[in-house]
Amino acid sequence: MRRRIFTDFDGPIMDVSERYYQVYLYCLEKIRKPEQVVTTLSKSEFWELKRSQVPEKEIANLSGFEDEKQSIAFAHLRRATVHTNPYFSYDRLIDIAIPALEKAQQLGIDLAVMTMRRRRELEPVLDQYNLRRFFSSDRIFCLDDDYVKTVDIQDKPKLMKMAQADLPEVHHQWMIGDTEADIIAAQTYGVPAIAVLSGIRNQVQLEKYKPNRIVTNLICAINEVVDL
Ligand SMILES: [Mg+2]
Repeated sequence: MRRRIFTDFDGPIMDVSERYYQVYLYCLEKIRKPEQVVTTLSKSEFWELKRSQVPEKEIANLSGFEDEKQSIAFAHLRRATVHTNPYFSYDRLIDIAIPALEKAQQLGIDLAVMTMRRRRELEPVLDQYNLRRFFSSDRIFCLDDDYVKTVDIQDKPKLMKMAQADLPEVHHQWMIGDTEADIIAAQTYGVPAIAVLSGIRNQVQLEKYKPNRIVTNLICAINEVVDL
């Protein structure tokens, strides 16, 4: 009985919270006027706002940018900066990710990674943490370096469409991810979705999209698959 898991990268495997927080601090400093007093959110305050999907403009307001122009500038700078170097170097591998992937591999589950990272943002990290042993090159679904992004909830289903067309059929497959983009990509192609809480969305946000399961992290998600 062939089984396959698609796993998202940021959220189930990588912890990106420090990158996002460092970009927040940078934007705060860049947008602030010399005399202006701002409220620097703590990392945990900031990350909980992200997990609750509070819009960037509102995070700007909460940080002391009450002026509409400033909060828009803050949101723009944030978006332009968050997927750039040197900030990627703040990402950390989630502790349980390797044991989780090893377990799935030992059980003979076919593993594929599906991410909105661009190839140049993904491949160096796969090498850095020796993750290619889990994902052969035809099991890596990411954005081409020159792909023009729209929004994640539209771009991710395109990757799933490609995967469903190209990969050999299996009896059972699952998508594991930490955002609505993962859930929607899975649901669009009839793939059961398991949401994890180790990423950028909290339980309340994930529930809105009705994944088949919501679990703590990647190892819990793989245990769900094994038990089914
Ligand atoms: Mg993710």
